[in-house]
Amino acid sequence: MLSEIFEQSAEFKNFLHLVREEKTAHSFLLSSKDAFSASQMAMLFARALLCPDLCGRCENCKKMLVNAHPDVKFFPQGGKLLVEDSKKIVDESFTKPIFSDKKIFIIQNVDLSTDEAQNKLLKSLEEPQKNVFYILTTTNLDKVLPTIRSRCNKIEIMPCQEQDIEKLLSCSEEQKQLALKIGQGYVARTLELAKKKNLAGLFDLAVGLLKDLSSSKEAVVWSRKILDEKADFNLLIEILSMLVEDALFAKVDKNCKLRFEGKRKVVLQIAEALSIKCMANLQSVFDKAVRDLSYNVSPVLVADNLVMNILEVKYLCK
Ligand SMILES: [Zn+2]
Repeated sequence: MLSEIFEQSAEFKNFLHLVREEKTAHSFLLSSKDAFSASQMAMLFARALLCPDLCGRCENCKKMLVNAHPDVKFFPQGGKLLVEDSKKIVDESFTKPIFSDKKIFIIQNVDLSTDEAQNKLLKSLEEPQKNVFYILTTTNLDKVLPTIRSRCNKIEIMPCQEQDIEKLLSCSEEQKQLALKIGQGYVARTLELAKKKNLAGLFDLAVGLLKDLSSSKEAVVWSRKILDEKADFNLLIEILSMLVEDALFAKVDKNCKLRFEGKRKVVLQIAEALSIKCMANLQSVFDKAVRDLSYNVSPVLVADNLVMNILEVKYLCK
């Protein structure tokens, strides 16, 4: 079960311990690279505040398990937290809980909100009403105002164990391994990757770009292959980067355990084909492609540049 993965985590166990000792803070900032993990953990924290035994039978548990607890409020109500949302949170903090003895605000992806909206929350976070709790989540701690960060108890949600996530996957073994390795312990991401029909194809394309692409005459063909997968352009670059990292480890120590251990043969071939300097420079090429995509440069141009830059680095760092 998905929720069990989070219940077993050290972050949650520590929190539960404080709740049971009645020593918990009132404002939390949960950070994870994976928005889903952060929001699952926020729900679990809220449930533990309402029922420290997580009994599953009481009315608090029952209402939480169907996401319908009247004293647990979810924000933002749109895509990102706006000043009006913050005002609502501040106002509602002063009203009494309806059903339980606590009032909990779950404020997700606080990094996406405007500075103004974040500032509006400060006072509530700093001087919370008795029995009012704020659980904020973020996937980008750097984008949360320092003033907010300093007023919250910051908890980093670590990636889950692969073997725990593996139990949730029902795809082919090859797909499973790729999803687990690329998903890096983030549950939602891994589940999503496991469903991707083109995952193995993307992996092969990345291998081809590193291992087989060798002359500018082939550039057009490889650019076209990349554009065929343009919906997954960022994922492709991520796989390229992971593969190069793996190949670098293999180059330094042939016997070390690799991320793509199941694909050891191709990783060793890549390590054979590329110099250490080349691999280091390729990471800058990938970073540039990610940056260009985030600036909305046309995918056609990014694909062409990526192919040409890989070729150039391969040529210059033989
Ligand atoms: Zn309960």
